[in-house]
Amino acid sequence: MLQVSIPMPRSSFPPLALARWVWTLPTNLIGHLVGLLACRRLPRRLKGPACNAWLYVLPQGSRLRRVGAVAIGHAVLAESAFISGSRGRWVLAHELSHTRQHDWLGPTYLPLHVLCQIVSVVVNRAWPVTGFSPVHAYNPLERTLLHVPFDVLRESDQSLDSGDPRVLKMFGLER
Ligand SMILES: [Zn+2]
Repeated sequence: MLQVSIPMPRSSFPPLALARWVWTLPTNLIGHLVGLLACRRLPRRLKGPACNAWLYVLPQGSRLRRVGAVAIGHAVLAESAFISGSRGRWVLAHELSHTRQHDWLGPTYLPLHVLCQIVSVVVNRAWPVTGFSPVHAYNPLERTLLHVPFDVLRESDQSLDSGDPRVLKMFGLER
């Protein structure tokens, strides 16, 4: 059983949507700049009731390919193999969960992620967690405070296949 939670739809109430657009603009600008420089092509829209993001597919030979997938604000950068098939849908759901964090954290999103990664690496040196990279092991922004935690991506294909389809639907990732 995957430990996921179903995201609520994003509000489309105009004043709220405008405030969110302004709040998330600084990190989104960074994300789109990195995405455009890394991919040299326009992104694809990822849209569902619970998200509105942009997907940059990393080209062959990109230095960023070894990160697999990353969400910089609402810009998701990913290599195509990493986001294909059933497992890939859950990878995208995880990245889109980060975009929900960004809705709340706005300009503090990147600094907080960096801080949590540093703390996780330091604690992991003393108490390593099997099966998790140092930046994920003790990182609440990866393992607790999001709808699809990183832990889900360590599940078997069979377990992912039987994951709650409502989560994928809310992120616009249903088959
Ligand atoms: Zn993550």
